[in-house]
Amino acid sequence: MRDLSSSLALKVSRRLARYVPTRPRMLRPQRAVVSFTFDDVPDTAYTNGARLLDDYGLRGTFYIAPGICGKTEDHWRVLTREQTADLSRRGHEIGCHTYAHAAVQSLSVAQLEQDDRNCRQTLLQICGDIPLGNFAFPFGNAGLSRKRQLQRQYDSCRGIHVGTNRGIIDLAMLRVQELYESTGKVGVDRLLDDVERKGGWLIFYTHDVAENPSAIGCTPALLDHALKAITTRGITCMTIARALTELKLTP
Ligand SMILES: [Zn+2]
Repeated sequence: MRDLSSSLALKVSRRLARYVPTRPRMLRPQRAVVSFTFDDVPDTAYTNGARLLDDYGLRGTFYIAPGICGKTEDHWRVLTREQTADLSRRGHEIGCHTYAHAAVQSLSVAQLEQDDRNCRQTLLQICGDIPLGNFAFPFGNAGLSRKRQLQRQYDSCRGIHVGTNRGIIDLAMLRVQELYESTGKVGVDRLLDDVERKGGWLIFYTHDVAENPSAIGCTPALLDHALKAITTRGITCMTIARALTELKLTP
């Protein structure tokens, strides 16, 4: 019974973290801004994803858990530390994704503090003195208290809950739109139509960028389609850090 009530409490806390803005800001949707974000990051997001962004003269945000760099996972190999440093040198933003790709709700306050310190220190060792202002929750997982803990450390935290950020937004749980192969070109065009018409901040997120992508990745062709569409439509595309400044969401 105690197990049941504690798992219910965790579930309620996750729900609250998702729906209660703990760092609300008003984003008046006067313009359309798009960001591309990559989680984990599979080496194909480096070889294909970053290369495509570079081809268009654009920059993305790569949320990296340095403790898994170079490791082979179920669906991909994670990029190496050298590749992480290269991304940063090329002007892409490096974001934090915990050290060990941990579901933050499973960590105590002290464990999360330690993990986060480890994550930042390692990324600074890899990339040199770079700003590390932005975080993404592994698995989109957070309860209210860990969400509050992390929002004190970062300019923004990004989840995986679907939506385009406009009106009252939550800097502690930014919403995303999936750039998965299943989204398709029509789906991408529809999202861009929507943000062009209504304004707001559309944050795409994906994982691998491969010819045979996982269910949470996309092909180079779909990413190319999105980048071309944005360029043709003249929509502004920025990293998370840059967008926060441009949209006047951080001081
Ligand atoms: Zn992840």
